[in-house]
Amino acid sequence: MIHLKTLEEIELMREAALVVSKTLGMLASEIKPGVDTLKLDAMAEEFIREQEALPGFLGLYDCPNTILTSVNEQVVHGLPTKRPLQDGDIVSVDCGAIKHGFYGDHAYTFYVGEVKEEIKLLCERTKSYLYKGIAQMKEGGRVGDIGAEIQWHAEKDGYGVVRELVGHGLGRSLHEDPQVPNYGKKGRGAKLNNGIVLAIEPMINMGTHRVSQLNDGWTIISADRKPSAHFEHDVALVDGTPEILSTFDYVEDVLGIERSTPRPRKILA
Ligand code: MG
Ligand code: MG
Repeated sequence: MIHLKTLEEIELMREAALVVSKTLGMLASEIKPGVDTLKLDAMAEEFIREQEALPGFLGLYDCPNTILTSVNEQVVHGLPTKRPLQDGDIVSVDCGAIKHGFYGDHAYTFYVGEVKEEIKLLCERTKSYLYKGIAQMKEGGRVGDIGAEIQWHAEKDGYGVVRELVGHGLGRSLHEDPQVPNYGKKGRGAKLNNGIVLAIEPMINMGTHRVSQLNDGWTIISADRKPSAHFEHDVALVDGTPEILSTFDYVEDVLGIERSTPRPRKILA
């Protein structure tokens, strides 16, 4: 069952999303060769609690951490470790927070030191597919419109679109209906109505779309061990068009790159 949100609830969800956005921005200045992801995890937990919010992942489904850190061929759900990040790695940091009883959930894939051009391109393009998918969120549209768009662009560029893991509805639970695959057919799937809030999160592999799971019971890796990128935003449908509740501004300002997230709209009178 899809829980549509009121404009007041969507504004509260924006606050939850922004806790995560600021946390990713804080981490952006810490991610460099030699830093281990367990240290980043501890920093993220402290930073979230300082914002009078709760870590959203910690303890959920027995998750032992505040952030999930997926390095190189790891697609998603990598658990933080003491292994130092190395020059040339990429690391997707996925983070959740609870504020006002609502979840924020979003992710950014960071470069560690000097990263190969082809891997940077995978990351840049995956971020662009996220926005292309979001642009398909329209009143009366279907969930399949989002996935079809992401899949078309990713496969045109020769990449693999992960099938086993998907985006999702977001609200008082981290995973609400509907599921939001990053593949699919236009015009198919659940209807998009004003008040729906989705976590849209393309997971795009440099090679095959196939994945497997490590025996830690968490980490998903690409089957051919080629790199994988992951970007995630929280998006509400308001007045028939998408309103992105999270923002990459904090991250992109630290990285010194152009801001990608559209300006927020004032949705309450
Ligand atoms: Mg996430
Ligand atoms: Mg998610």
